[in-house]
Amino acid sequence: MSKKLLLKDAHIEGIRYFETYRKQGGYTAAEKALKMTPDEILEEVKASGLRGRGGAGFPTGMKWSFLAKPEGVPRHLVVNADESEPGTFKDRYLMEFLPHLLIEGMLISSYCLGSNVSYIYIRGEYSWIPDILEEAIEEAKAAGFLGKNIMGTGFDCEIYVQRGGGAYICGEETALLESLEGKRGNPRLKPPFPAVKGLWERPTVVNNVESIAAIVPIIDITGAEYAKIGVGRSTGTKLISACGNINRPGVYEIDMTITVEEFIYSDEYCGGIANGKKLKACIPGGSSVPIVPANLLLRTVNGEPRYMNYESLADGGFATGTMMGSGGFIVLDEDQCIVEHTMTLARFYNHESCGQCTPCREGTGWMYKILKKIEKGEGKMEDIDLLWDIQRKIEGNTICPLGDAAAWPVAAAIRHFRDEFEWHIKNPELSQTQNYGLANY
Ligand code: SF4
Repeated sequence: MSKKLLLKDAHIEGIRYFETYRKQGGYTAAEKALKMTPDEILEEVKASGLRGRGGAGFPTGMKWSFLAKPEGVPRHLVVNADESEPGTFKDRYLMEFLPHLLIEGMLISSYCLGSNVSYIYIRGEYSWIPDILEEAIEEAKAAGFLGKNIMGTGFDCEIYVQRGGGAYICGEETALLESLEGKRGNPRLKPPFPAVKGLWERPTVVNNVESIAAIVPIIDITGAEYAKIGVGRSTGTKLISACGNINRPGVYEIDMTITVEEFIYSDEYCGGIANGKKLKACIPGGSSVPIVPANLLLRTVNGEPRYMNYESLADGGFATGTMMGSGGFIVLDEDQCIVEHTMTLARFYNHESCGQCTPCREGTGWMYKILKKIEKGEGKMEDIDLLWDIQRKIEGNTICPLGDAAAWPVAAAIRHFRDEFEWHIKNPELSQTQNYGLANY
């Protein structure tokens, strides 16, 4: 059984409220942190090996150490709660059921970074969560854990919640900052990076909800102890939101030492494939990461078991591996059609492109149109190569990672499931009445 750090108290009734959270030991990590110096906290975060839980997996301690500290210029912490990646809903769970864990993590992080005004930028569609967060902020303030001179330390901290307008692109950190400043959420060219010029051109750290919540157990048990959980550079625990054709969809906390097979088939987690079907493929890190067929999902190309961690999931690179990404674990059974599935994702990315870069703006539209044509049985064999060519021209040639995120699912689908694309082209009548999965398994 995986060790629980973030969700250990999630089952306790009323844990959403300050009184219950405090009774369970809540805010003791903050009390401990406020007696430390900011540099000591930073050293703990570095020692923990925590990697950003939003998708990129960049070491959090290193990110914090890049924060510029010019004299007299305010700094900010911004929590990225714009969780819009298809298949990902673990931050929603944290904010809905454990809002004080996030607030406590923000207090510690804000103190470490020197942010007196911090923000939570939350996805617009999570319409009921801001009220929960704002209530938690008020409770923390009433108890002296936010506001002026917190716990007599002389440190002031306010937290504000800002609702997004429903654009996926605002999950990209610079688009988020633009939106937070009241502008259209277009990604910025980097450099300068937010650590130097972020919110209102001030040094800013943007971190995911889960990353900031993880600061609480890191301070609680120490960075060194946190680093002992997990394996290699995949330290600590990770939240996974599991969905698709499984028996037990939900949010699970894993310690990154379990195998993918165990995660899918164990009753502790996904509980196996729904309706007794066979596993066909999986996207383990949210819709942007490459899809992997069952044989490569359960074992690496070397025949080693594949583990639920950053290194093992990526084993083999993009040709055979995938990524931990945001932890949005989407399972597809034998009945699913990869072409239809890829087309649905292509439509999403085309819709969400902000339109600033030509390869993304035009390329995502072309990919969607071609996939739609193939899925309807109106494609030609050359269309598969055309699709491949378009995704190659998008990847690495755009301002922000949305271009890559749109290209990778298409590349992986062609690489691993070319026969399905060809089946749609060779069987136009069948293609219009049933999908490849139902027709071929
Ligand atoms: Fe906008 Fe796409 Fe360019 Fe990102 S890659 S800036 S979403 S056009």
